[in-house]
Amino acid sequence: KISSRLQQIAERLPEGCRLADIGSDHALLPVSAVKSGKASFAVAGEVSDGPLDAARRQVAEAGEGHRISVRKGNGLEVITAGEVDTVTIAGMGGALIVSILSAGEDKLVGVKRLVLQPNVAEELVRRWLFEHGWFLSEEVILQEDGKIYEILTADAHPDAMQLNEKLYSERTLPGGTVLTKEILLTMGPRLTEEPNEVFFYKWDSELLKLDRIRQSIATSKLESSREKEMEINREYVQLEEAL
Ligand code: SAM
Repeated sequence: KISSRLQQIAERLPEGCRLADIGSDHALLPVSAVKSGKASFAVAGEVSDGPLDAARRQVAEAGEGHRISVRKGNGLEVITAGEVDTVTIAGMGGALIVSILSAGEDKLVGVKRLVLQPNVAEELVRRWLFEHGWFLSEEVILQEDGKIYEILTADAHPDAMQLNEKLYSERTLPGGTVLTKEILLTMGPRLTEEPNEVFFYKWDSELLKLDRIRQSIATSKLESSREKEMEINREYVQLEEAL
């Protein structure tokens, strides 16, 4: 049985898709996806030897070698353009996900859906999707084993640019708080529309963290920390208002 994080990612795959799971580690997602019929074919890409071996073993044990191709390589270089229609990249930082997408953008021709699960720096991923014309069709936030995860689903869509412009346009909450595009990129335009308990827990914890940093900077006498202090204060006030 796979974790509920991976299960939630699997649920977002289009029925019968051709999948590339980049940074697949034990290939748990591709195995589950082909077994359930969600994927008709999958590539499990891995850059490191250890996880690559684990992926090969897992696929062999599952008897899915005919439907899952385990390949060694950096990011999207393991696929050819047009080979898959769905890409998942999960369990790594947002900066790494963005660098993989940017470096392999030519491989995304023909890809209709991206399901991305950054462990940190989700805003970098939202910004990349926005700037590269991928429509953010769904956002999920969940908690498992004490960790919080966000899953971002993005689709190739002829009107992606306009749809995203609308999604990220400044919004005023009933209490008068303005959610700017920057705040929406940070917190998620869809998550802020229907915030759940996990969302509030995440941002309350972030506020506490920021407050601690703010206090430690305020007590230091260094001139150079003044600017940082002001920046953190600004961020704090914006987040606090949004909540
Ligand atoms: N995707 C799985 C999941 O969500 O459970 C595994 C996540 S694991 C923490 C991250 C994996 O990404 C590691 O196995 C690592 O070797 C792999 N990885 C990191 N950078 C990569 C890259 N540029 N290309 C392919 N794989 C990469």
